[in-house]
Amino acid sequence: MIVVADIVLDKVSKRFPDGTVAVRDVDLEISDGEFVILVGPSGCGKSTTLNMIAGLEDISSGELRIGGERVNDKAPRDRDIAMVFQSYALYPNMTVRENMAFPLRLQKLDRKTVDSKVEEAAKVLELTALLDRKPANLSGGQRQRVAMGRAIVRQPKAFLMDEPLSNLDAKLRVQMRTVVSRLQKRLGTTTVYVTHDQTEAMTLGDRVVIMRGGEVQQVGRPQELYDHPRNLFVAGFIGSPSMNFLHAAVQDGKLRTALGDVPIGDRIRRELEAGDAPRELILGVRPEHFEDAELVDEETRRRGMEFEAPVEIVESMGSDKYVYVAVEGERASAAELEELAADAGAADFTGTGSNLVTRLSAESPVAEGETRRVWFNLEKIHLFDPANGRNLT
Ligand code: ATP
Repeated sequence: MIVVADIVLDKVSKRFPDGTVAVRDVDLEISDGEFVILVGPSGCGKSTTLNMIAGLEDISSGELRIGGERVNDKAPRDRDIAMVFQSYALYPNMTVRENMAFPLRLQKLDRKTVDSKVEEAAKVLELTALLDRKPANLSGGQRQRVAMGRAIVRQPKAFLMDEPLSNLDAKLRVQMRTVVSRLQKRLGTTTVYVTHDQTEAMTLGDRVVIMRGGEVQQVGRPQELYDHPRNLFVAGFIGSPSMNFLHAAVQDGKLRTALGDVPIGDRIRRELEAGDAPRELILGVRPEHFEDAELVDEETRRRGMEFEAPVEIVESMGSDKYVYVAVEGERASAAELEELAADAGAADFTGTGSNLVTRLSAESPVAEGETRRVWFNLEKIHLFDPANGRNLT
């Protein structure tokens, strides 16, 4: 099957009049019906990218094609796209029904068609019982559903959503995530969704575009980004709590780290021998790839290695435990990583304290203040080149 890309960004850049380059050479192909998430820290250019697709911002260079047609100079209303914003922008004096009917009235559709389209959308969004209410008498989640209803009645070619859930409280946000996801699957409409929340990005989208400083860092399915982050930035951004990063010095065919000497796999050994990799690396281990050594069976044990460390904090989550253990001196500190990141264009790290964060089974009898043997999975580690942030594994 040939997949026809519905929205194509071809080397799209945005330079604002004050010289700020908000988006740089973004290449992206979004297939018909696909749900794509743009995610990244504040100021990375996600909203600007979305606004260029919507036609709310001019494109400084590059080409935007929708359904094969170049639309750089096409007015927003002619692009057949519906936008949903963080603020609901509902008309306070209109009922839910009138709010949802508004875009259809602009299209001068007859009353019967308008009514039936509104009622259909209301059904999908479970708003039927609220059609005659005013926005003031709705909850935040209901208002956001009306805003979505107003977007879907038009049956546009694509939905563009800019942090539509960020005004909702945490619990409602999770509920609305399911609503958005079901809605998108049911309608099958191409959707581009902006968020700064990596959990939202990982759970909602078919594919995730990770941006930083106006540039795309990596595009992939959520699991791909988690398993194979291309660089330090993506590795640190995806996953919660974040991946742990430690210094690793290459010495006598081994990596000397604060967790002990880590054996080097054949492929990386060859790279090192060919002089393609540096003598200093950054070792990355996700919290969930540690386990209380006592709980690891013989076969699993062989896939990893163990170290001993003082336990500083134990946070019980019910299903598992976040255990903060102290490792001697060699942990890559936040400041160092930030410096590396600045040099490498690789990462904005926050929250990387001096402790190692591990996620152990709930059954672990680990206690604060003791010294504990902890195992980690060598098959899941990542090694990064500190010079450019590239993942070598
Ligand atoms: P946030 O999550 O905070 O909304 P974002 O990733 O959506 O961030 P954008 O709003 O796209 O980021 O902004 C990208 C960059 O462009 C930022 O550095 C921002 O300050 C800058 N920027 C945005 N609008 C303008 C403007 N009109 N003139 C100059 N610079 C701008």
